Amino acid sequence: MSPRADGPRPGRVVISEAELRARITALGAAIAGDYAGQNPVLVGVLQGAFLFMADLIRATPIDLTTDFIGLSSYGSGTKSSGHVRLVSDLSMSIADRDVLIVEDIVDTGLTLAYLKRNLEARHPRSVRVCVLADKTERREVEVAVDYVGFTVPNVYVVGYGFDYGGVFRNLPYVAVLEGA
Ligand code: 5GP
Repeated sequence: MSPRADGPRPGRVVISEAELRARITALGAAIAGDYAGQNPVLVGVLQGAFLFMADLIRATPIDLTTDFIGLSSYGSGTKSSGHVRLVSDLSMSIADRDVLIVEDIVDTGLTLAYLKRNLEARHPRSVRVCVLADKTERREVEVAVDYVGFTVPNVYVVGYGFDYGGVFRNLPYVAVLEGA
């Protein structure tokens, strides 16, 4: 699905480029402090987290390894299907490794709960979670999040990795989708 020109568009900015930069610098420093000497595996969740992952690792000045996993939970609109599907798997073993999941947003928590369970079954040394945005109001399942970039209100956001129908990921800031 491609958005129509007269359909929903990015509106009000909720997280600016400067805010993203400052917060990600702080997150990277915290992660570097916590994982120094451990060579953690940062697992980016595709597709939403790829921009965040790229900026986060450049703000994390320690030895680390990256990998990606592809999950699908939303359909093509703004409603969660509630079903999480593994679309593409990691390229490496995480047994005995310290894993840090890098996710774009926790909404109901269903995706993250599924992913944590899935990765924990592979016998890593530890699994922690870093999310760019947390929509705390919408949580349906309890899931621990160790590093949070921003708490966002219950609005559908686009930009900086967040899409609507596959579009708008390339905006350098996070905005509210208006007209949906
Ligand atoms: P959860 O399983 O926690 O309900 O949903 C997590 C996933 O839903 C996220 O990884 C993201 O792909 C999608 N999602 C949740 N809220 C938003 C939003 O406001 N905008 C976009 N583009 N995706 C969202």
